[in-house]
Amino acid sequence: MSDFATTKAVKARKPHTCEECWRIIEPDETYHRTAGSWEGDFFTIKACGHCDRFRKHINEADDYYHEGYYGGAGAWVENGYYSAGDLPGLTFAQRLALFRMARHFEGRWRDSSGRLRPLPDDLVLGMAVAA
Ligand SMILES: [Zn+2]
Repeated sequence: MSDFATTKAVKARKPHTCEECWRIIEPDETYHRTAGSWEGDFFTIKACGHCDRFRKHINEADDYYHEGYYGGAGAWVENGYYSAGDLPGLTFAQRLALFRMARHFEGRWRDSSGRLRPLPDDLVLGMAVAA
């Protein structure tokens, strides 16, 4: 359990690296800076707008996920927690939406021609998660 964590939306003035998907956050993009304490250690983590929204979806969908915990979305995808058996409370459409977001996360939110995808729909799981 996180002792505390707060996330703030910040407009990038210079390039930053998203510490969830490791893509470059370009100047003028909004990113999200989380500062907090995890098991006694202070941390800050930067996330792009896509990953921030993805984390909110995960947080809604998975009771075992704690939004804002260090390395959250990456570890969640790596462990395959989006698979059906791990999320019994979701409908098929919600699972599919999460699965697609996990795939897009792995592709650093770019399509096959390299264009940045739009932000994940905030209502895709039927839950409003927009900041
Ligand atoms: Zn990201």
